[in-house]
Amino acid sequence: MSEKRYREALALLRQHQVRITPQREAILRLLVSSKSHPTAEAIFNEIKDTFSGISIATVYNNLRLFKQLGIIQELTYGNEPGHFDFAQVRHFHVVCQNCGQVVDVYYPDLAKIERLAENLTGYQTLGNNIEVYGLCPNCQHKLAAARVKKERQQVDLKEPV
Ligand SMILES: [Zn+2]
Repeated sequence: MSEKRYREALALLRQHQVRITPQREAILRLLVSSKSHPTAEAIFNEIKDTFSGISIATVYNNLRLFKQLGIIQELTYGNEPGHFDFAQVRHFHVVCQNCGQVVDVYYPDLAKIERLAENLTGYQTLGNNIEVYGLCPNCQHKLAAARVKKERQQVDLKEPV
């Protein structure tokens, strides 16, 4: 389960074109495996020997980035330093209407749809199942190539004898 969460988080980072550095991976790994909701300082103390030259600012920057992307959440108790925990990364499906391929897209704001539905209808919502339809890159190429071939044939037919 934690391995799945880790892979989901990496996929989300790649989706946002965030470079996966060894430090970034180490911080994510620590957050996934930790059961104690570590603080930034605890994370820093944990990895500073592995990455000489890493600063606590780097840890803070990474935690802020993960939080913005919805990978982790910050738990604060009064004036105590924030503790960090993995958030459930929600995803929806993109489906190719030509070949049926399904790809997961990780999107932490999916819960907002349920909140909107609650506000508009008064329902108590339990989840959602979103599918986005389209053509996968592979099928786009295949269909474009087929179209070009067909157009050439039509031009050939129109050619005067
Ligand atoms: Zn396809």
